[in-house]
Amino acid sequence: MAKVGLREWLAIGRVIASGRLARYGGPGEGPLDRFEKAFSQQFDIRHVLTVSSGTGALISGLAASGVGPGDEVLVPAYTWIATAAAVLAVGAVPVIVDIDETLTMDPDDIERRITPRTRAILPVHMANMVCDMEAIMALARKHGLLVIEDACQAVGVTYRDRRVGTIGDIGAFSFNQFKNINIGEGGAVASQSDRFFARARMYHDVGELFRGHLDNYNEPSFFGVNFKASQIQGAMLNVQLAKLDPMLKRMRRRHQVMARILSGCDAFRLGPHNDPQNAVGLHLLFETEEEAKTFAAKHRRGVYRVFDSSRHVCTHWTPILEKRAFHPAMNPYGWAKASVDYGPDMCARSLDILKRTCRISLGENYPTALMAYLARRMAGQSSQERRLSYAS
Ligand SMILES: *Cc1c(COP(=O)(O)O)cnc(C)c1O
Repeated sequence: MAKVGLREWLAIGRVIASGRLARYGGPGEGPLDRFEKAFSQQFDIRHVLTVSSGTGALISGLAASGVGPGDEVLVPAYTWIATAAAVLAVGAVPVIVDIDETLTMDPDDIERRITPRTRAILPVHMANMVCDMEAIMALARKHGLLVIEDACQAVGVTYRDRRVGTIGDIGAFSFNQFKNINIGEGGAVASQSDRFFARARMYHDVGELFRGHLDNYNEPSFFGVNFKASQIQGAMLNVQLAKLDPMLKRMRRRHQVMARILSGCDAFRLGPHNDPQNAVGLHLLFETEEEAKTFAAKHRRGVYRVFDSSRHVCTHWTPILEKRAFHPAMNPYGWAKASVDYGPDMCARSLDILKRTCRISLGENYPTALMAYLARRMAGQSSQERRLSYAS
């Protein structure tokens, strides 16, 4: 997890002293502009728009790309409920797709769930794992679908040398307390498309009527909501962005060391990864649910069975499964061209995988030697063997 400290505190102090707290609170460049420039350079993406949350980024991105009532959007069975709720916020309905052993969307199941009503695929790079973007982009091209990447839980992570969130048509990032960039609450939308960027910016700022932007690419204004970020968030983001790549480097290093120790054990398999050379996420697969439970109970530190963090499993998205909106006349399920089935068997394969999987923390803020020691304990090495290798 990204740490916050003195440098963020000082950066916020400067913003408060300047008196310019809002994005449009004064002339010239502010911390938000500087952050967006730096992020777009570091991530090699044309446009970046900071917003108030990752959910706001997803909703702005979906609105920008024109997804709406009557559309189906494919979302994975394993993600935070915000992914599916964002689809409903623009009037479309989420269709749930199974994950595979990489803990991300299974491309074969994506193809099975595509209908004439499907408008977009919303792959989620969950828990710093990366989706099989090559297969997903090929499917999108074949069926004429948009790809909106949810990179909220994998900010900065790469897939074949490209940052996730910059590969599809639009990417969404979250900067909340639990993400790779942590400013409490915040998010960003990224796109190569001038038009999608202009539309996202309009949507996130109630139509941005009086801002005087000259780069709206002839897009007529439409009304929206307010998902604007503040300069206080911008100031923290600049400090956090500088910490991101060093942190990911530490994670990559610990992944290499721990994966080597944990591979070749009889008790479990190393979870597959869509880009193992650059992996910053680690999980173990067991034959049975019982074995995973026993392992998680035995190694509490930095180990947990994925299914036990049940809030990220689709079977717990109660308001979505029950199709309940804040107002019955504003319910996208009433506008859908075909009924969406969230029956009890809808993601049996995902549930089976999640119940047999334990995620392993890479301990990026702890010494590599300690993480290697813990990995050896997980691998079942004797205490003598562990002490010898810790000392070396
Ligand atoms: C955190 C998260 C979001 C939403 O981000 P917020 O900033 O909390 O709104 C969306 N999708 C996934 C996968 C997330 O983990």
